[in-house]
Amino acid sequence: MAKERTFSIIKPDAVAAGNAGHILQQLTDGGLRPVAMRLVQLTTAQAEGFYGVHRERPFFRDLVKFMTSGPVVVQVLEGENAIAKNRELMGATDSKKAAPGTIRQKYGTDIERNAVHGSDAPETAKFEIGFFFSGAELATLSVG
Ligand code: GDP
Repeated sequence: MAKERTFSIIKPDAVAAGNAGHILQQLTDGGLRPVAMRLVQLTTAQAEGFYGVHRERPFFRDLVKFMTSGPVVVQVLEGENAIAKNRELMGATDSKKAAPGTIRQKYGTDIERNAVHGSDAPETAKFEIGFFFSGAELATLSVG
């Protein structure tokens, strides 16, 4: 499998709890390395735009409120099979049901406050990377 890129967010709960470093270490140990990274405070409009596919879901308002509640780390991760690998390291959406040792099980709380986001397919990775990072930022930062 060729080297691939995915998009990741360390969510407000994990940043506030001081777990961003631990999560980054676990991702890196799992074979994923950041090629672009930024600490940002999302606006409501940005969170709504990013999660636009969930607009009709009953939890949309709560999700936007949560994602704007504090700073997040947005990053592009690169590695073999990065999209699936990141999802595997993250664990199931609901932190209460995530497998032992996964990031969501270790650092999340429930189905909403689940510590991390990760793209679920190549098309979403492309959209999500482009939402936060420009071509110029990405072109100069590839890890060999
Ligand atoms: P993911 O791809 O595993 O992040 O899961 P989804 O795309 O289904 O949901 C996006 C995000 O919405 C999740 O990571 C959670 O933060 C939140 N979320 C998902 N399901 C629920 C829910 O039933 N209730 C609430 N409050 N939040 C949810």
